[in-house]
Order: sequence, then structure tokens, then C-alpha cells
Amino acid sequence: MEFCAEESCGKCTPCRIGSVRGVEVIDKIIAGHNRSQNLVVLDDLCDLMTDGSLCAMGGLTPMPVRSAMKHFPEDFQKLPTENFSILDATESLATEAGR
Ligand code: SF4
Repeated sequence: MEFCAEESCGKCTPCRIGSVRGVEVIDKIIAGHNRSQNLVVLDDLCDLMTDGSLCAMGGLTPMPVRSAMKHFPEDFQKLPTENFSILDATESLATEAGR
């Protein structure tokens, strides 16, 4: 989502705005704010971007997000909830993975 937010050409709204909202929603999920509701919002946002984007940038960006939600749902529940930063969360996951 963050890559798409950076690289979107801005021609269509689902990609231009959806990717920014996607980053925000994922940050909220990582921070533990209304996780279950925000997972529903993220899923709806993925539908919107897939169906409403004009090219593969916006249309395919939801694929890895959906893949992570489907195959690693536990990762969306165990992330840090206090003093959160996306960098800390990324480093934490990398440490768990032994990298
Ligand atoms: S989906 Fe493609 S055309 Fe639409 S804003 Fe994104 S990059 Fe531009």
C-alpha cells in the first residue's frame, strides 16, 4: 500500500486515495485500534481498489495485502499495541523471522 501511495499517478481515485487510506488502516491495525473493524475496512478497501482502479498499480496492490490477511491472520493480532511505530513493528517481525 505504501509503495502504491508513493507511485500512484493519481489518475483514478481508488488508487490515489485508497492506497493512502490503506496505509492508515494498516497502521491502525498494527497499533491495535479497533482491529476487527479495521480489518473489515481494509478488506472493503481492497475490493474497491481491485474493482475501481484503471491499471495494475491500483488493481493488484491489494493482492499481497489479501494474501497476508488470508495466510497469516495471526500476524494481524499479535503486533505491538503500545508505543507503536511501523519501523518497530517491521523490525520485530524481522527479528522473529531470524533476519
Ligand atoms: S490505478 Fe493506475 S491509472 Fe489509476 S491512479 Fe493508480 S497508477 Fe494511475
